[in-house]
Amino acid sequence: MFNAHASAEGTFEHQLNEYKGVQATRVIMDYYNSDPSQSFYGGGGIDARGGLFLTPLMYTIAGSPPSEKNWGAEYKDMIAHSFSRQMGMFISGTSIPMDRNNITLHPTNTDQWGRPSIIVTYQNHPDDLENARFLQNIGQELLDAAGAKRTWAHPVEPSNFGVHLLGTCRMGDDPATSVIDKAHRTHDVSNLFICDGSSLVTSTRGQPTMIIMALAFRAADQIKAAANAGTI
Ligand SMILES: Cc1cc2nc3c(=O)[nH]c(=O)nc-3n(C[C@H](O)[C@H](O)[C@H](O)COP(=O)(O)OP(=O)(O)OC[C@H]3O[C@@H](n4cnc5c(N)ncnc54)[C@H](O)[C@@H]3O)c2cc1C
Repeated sequence: MFNAHASAEGTFEHQLNEYKGVQATRVIMDYYNSDPSQSFYGGGGIDARGGLFLTPLMYTIAGSPPSEKNWGAEYKDMIAHSFSRQMGMFISGTSIPMDRNNITLHPTNTDQWGRPSIIVTYQNHPDDLENARFLQNIGQELLDAAGAKRTWAHPVEPSNFGVHLLGTCRMGDDPATSVIDKAHRTHDVSNLFICDGSSLVTSTRGQPTMIIMALAFRAADQIKAAANAGTI
């Protein structure tokens, strides 16, 4: 699982200088829970930050509305004017766990040390994209309400990469359908513990690091207890 992401962008009259310093954001959790009245399953958070395309290089490549030409003197003027006036509403939402998604090793393609490259197979559940579109619309409404002179959003596309890498060694009681048990010990190798994002069984609905850390602390306690009990 990746978490489905999207953003809504807005330019303001005055400089915001969002690119300066650490992104200090608060995540709007009003839409975290699934809403049974919606046609899709899922939820997520919305956080305000310096646009999805925060760095100058990324901004010149993809920071402008998709409908506009991205070359020439006019474009250069727009970049110079808008970079410090832009901010975005960044959406992180549900990525429903699907059996068809996996990471496997390539049968023949290897690196110089003979290690196989990985093959990532991933396709969003349609609800992931519906949820991302829903949250993106809310983000755009928030920018309008905040007084942005202009707002837009890049179309939500199926995920083809991600930085929130979750699942693949999921936790569970059944060795046939999971890799680690509830104490993070692998079913197959008795003294091997896996404490990272791979143990998650759902994507959560946003930034995963605190959950990964909480699980790692919990696993450490259990490893200590097992060591004291002489079962390691
Ligand atoms: C650009 C970016 C932005 C992100 N932003 C956020 C955010 O705002 N909020 C949030 O919550 N999360 C964010 N994430 C996601 C978050 O960083 C990850 O989900 C989290 O760090 C994953 O933790 P992990 O322990 O699963 O793996 P990692 O932190 O990747 O740890 C894996 C470790 O294993 C080591 N390793 C790999 N192979 C070997 C080997 N063969 N032998 C020994 N060691 C090895 C690696 O060096 C690494 O230290 C972001 C990620 C990226 C890339």
